[in-house]
Amino acid sequence: MSNRTFTMIKPDATAKGNTGAILSMINAAGFRIVAMKMTKLSKEKAGEFYAVHAARPFYGELVEFMSSGPITAAILEKDNAVEDFRKLIGATNPAEAAEGTIRKLYAASIGENAVHGSDSNENAAIEGDFFFSKLEQF
Ligand code: ATP
Ligand code: MG
Repeated sequence: MSNRTFTMIKPDATAKGNTGAILSMINAAGFRIVAMKMTKLSKEKAGEFYAVHAARPFYGELVEFMSSGPITAAILEKDNAVEDFRKLIGATNPAEAAEGTIRKLYAASIGENAVHGSDSNENAAIEGDFFFSKLEQF
């Protein structure tokens, strides 16, 4: 599974109508979509997904935001997927994101930053399985 990563197009990008443009950038960068769904996280599910950040001061805000509207969740395949996708999305804070990255183009702030990308192969597998059964991963 080391050639796979997991992403979410977050509620801010969904609300602004940027889902199609972001998916186009993902495809243009050479990622193959092997699972995808539009869904909405409950507060409980958002809290569970980001449990690793439970002790951080922004956790409450993060859970509120991630459950505030629909998201698009997807598993992406490409050589070196985790690292290459983090390069494509750019820094967590859009003010620090490189030109041409998804967050530079579509994120408004460090909290509302358009997309999620897994930070390791291990988390990519855990996060993909959080949203998709094995029958939904192609
Ligand atoms: P993600 O995991 O969503 O891909 P990331 O790996 O770039 O983002 P993390 O450190 O994992 O960044 O933080 C998870 C999310 O928590 C960020 O994407 C952002 O939405 C939110 N977040 C991080 N730091 C802050 C902060 N200082 N203030 C508000 N929200 C924050
Ligand atoms: Mg992260």
